[in-house]
Amino acid sequence: MKSKNYHMTPAQFREEGKKIIDWIADYYENIEEYPVLSQVKPGEIKDSLPISAPQKSESIDEMIRDLNEKIMPGITHWQSPNFFAYFNSNTSFPSILGDLVSSGLGVQGMIWATSPAATEVETRVLDWLAEMMDMPESFKSTSTGGGVIQDTASTAALTALIAARERATKFQSNNKGLEEKLVAYISTQTHSSVEKGVKIAGIGKDNLRLIDVDENFAMRPDLLEKQIQKDKKDGLHPFFVCGTVGTTSSTAIDPIKAIGEICKQENCWYHIDAASFGTAMICPEFRHFINGVELADSYSFNPHKWMFTNFDCNVFWVANRDELINTFSILPEYLRNKATETGEVFDYRDWHIQLGRRFRSLKLWFVIRHYGVEGLRHHIREHIKLAQDFKNWVAESKDFEVVVEPLLNLISFRHIAGDDFNIRLMNTINETGKIYFTHTKLNGQVVLRMNIGQTHIEEKHVKVAWNIIQETAKKLV
Ligand SMILES: *Cc1c(COP(=O)(O)O)cnc(C)c1O
Repeated sequence: MKSKNYHMTPAQFREEGKKIIDWIADYYENIEEYPVLSQVKPGEIKDSLPISAPQKSESIDEMIRDLNEKIMPGITHWQSPNFFAYFNSNTSFPSILGDLVSSGLGVQGMIWATSPAATEVETRVLDWLAEMMDMPESFKSTSTGGGVIQDTASTAALTALIAARERATKFQSNNKGLEEKLVAYISTQTHSSVEKGVKIAGIGKDNLRLIDVDENFAMRPDLLEKQIQKDKKDGLHPFFVCGTVGTTSSTAIDPIKAIGEICKQENCWYHIDAASFGTAMICPEFRHFINGVELADSYSFNPHKWMFTNFDCNVFWVANRDELINTFSILPEYLRNKATETGEVFDYRDWHIQLGRRFRSLKLWFVIRHYGVEGLRHHIREHIKLAQDFKNWVAESKDFEVVVEPLLNLISFRHIAGDDFNIRLMNTINETGKIYFTHTKLNGQVVLRMNIGQTHIEEKHVKVAWNIIQETAKKLV
């Protein structure tokens, strides 16, 4: 006799799954009716859920009802075309479908043997991307390097820092004397995740140097060089430099080549963080921003920001994979297998911090195949054109000014009435839920940021947003 079980059958999954696909499609059809920024108070969502878990099985219909009633009020709609905040965290239907297949297969691709496709699709798709973006040959798996998908740009930077530390200490982590002398260099505008990585990697804040920037907020290579020489004179050991393509506050692009040349000369690991702007490198007309990238030891960008691929998906390329593998490889008995021992395969667990890994390349594979290189270029160019339109409107208005000339799709601007007014303007608009945008500070001044890169954005959304900003400002002065 079969014992009772609680599992969903394939037939039930087929039926319930269709409801969920319909629910997602309905969501996108009605997405503009929700307030973009969630309006709930802290604790409100938690209080709407029972204190204890259900003892008895509940139905998908009940869950869908609660999704609508209890969860949706607590959602900030990142996929709304009226979302202009931070940098995007885009998805797209092909990405959702690819991720669904990955969930369906449920493989754990820690080593090649645990699902060869999970490794080999990833290798091939990241080689495609390297070619699409005209990256140096060394980043390809067919050469000395290769790519691996990490969860985030933060983890990519940490991975680079650890590999750099190991290279500097000759891959002997008991080299304590030297470890204390290692110094890392970033700019005052570098993303906070690199500083966090420096902390986690045990380098310590005292051994992190923040190099000053020029009037465009890009790192000054002359000051980098000077600081490195000073540190060497003081008996320290410079080992890591991070350059950024598109800083978070100001979207500055560091002088990639000049920094790279210093790194080569001083034997520092050169990591490039192109988290958001990296996607634009598929358009040949923007590729010049990263001239000199062939000097990098590692490079990372987030398809989960601008490339229509849902979180999490960070692409991390290295020029010399042996350095990465020498850093992260440990082979316990229970993972020994023939394929690994022949050395003919990649075991991606040796390319990052964690052991287990999802089949994340599937969603990227779906996205690139759905759009084609042509489609991806089309949409990125559209976004940049809309951003330039917005910038022109700001430049023409007498009440607002452009603070940083936008290189790609992020506009930094402000109302001339001062810091408090700009904050009040932004909060007033965000509370209406019609659009959502954020701010930063540059040179001590409040600056409003409009990031134009949402998957489904069209010209009308940008026009309406500018109208709302202008009209609200008139009412508030
Ligand atoms: C967004 C961003 C990051 C952090 O990205 P995560 O993937 O969330 O870690 C790092 N650097 C830059 C330049 C960014 O824009």
